[in-house]
Amino acid sequence: MSENITLTMIKPSAVAAGFAGPILKMFQEGGFRIVAMKYLKMTAEEAGAFYEVHKEKGFYHSLVAFMSSGPIIAIVLEKENAVEEFRKFIGATDPDKAEPGTVRKVFGTSLTENAVHGSDSDENATLEAAFFFSRLERF
Ligand code: GDP
Repeated sequence: MSENITLTMIKPSAVAAGFAGPILKMFQEGGFRIVAMKYLKMTAEEAGAFYEVHKEKGFYHSLVAFMSSGPIIAIVLEKENAVEEFRKFIGATDPDKAEPGTVRKVFGTSLTENAVHGSDSDENATLEAAFFFSRLERF
């Protein structure tokens, strides 16, 4: 059953560009409540484990290198129907194809450096939230 949560990451390029504040503001204005939040840098091994499902894809190694290149902000967000609502809110994977006003359209710069991550199913949201946060770190 859905917990009405999704896992997002503000990706290294967006953090480095100083977009963390504006992106967090956008999440809150979009009605997403912060359940847990952490500022951290993943090792290549950790980023590889997070993106394990993409292991066979051509972009896997560059994605892992990028996601371990600098600090990220990992966040669990809550809203009714969070996974679907958040994916609509952030827009298409490729910022060029994202709807105007979406997070990736506003803050993304390329297909890889698309500002934020969003879980793609309730099952993955649960797994991804557990990747970063224990139950004691959620409020
Ligand atoms: P998402 O669920 O919209 O984040 O997209 P995916 O799960 O398919 O891909 C994970 C991440 O890999 C995306 O957010 C992009 O940063 C990156 N990515 C996806 N597709 C491509 C691609 O074709 N080329 C490159 N270079 N990166 C990609």
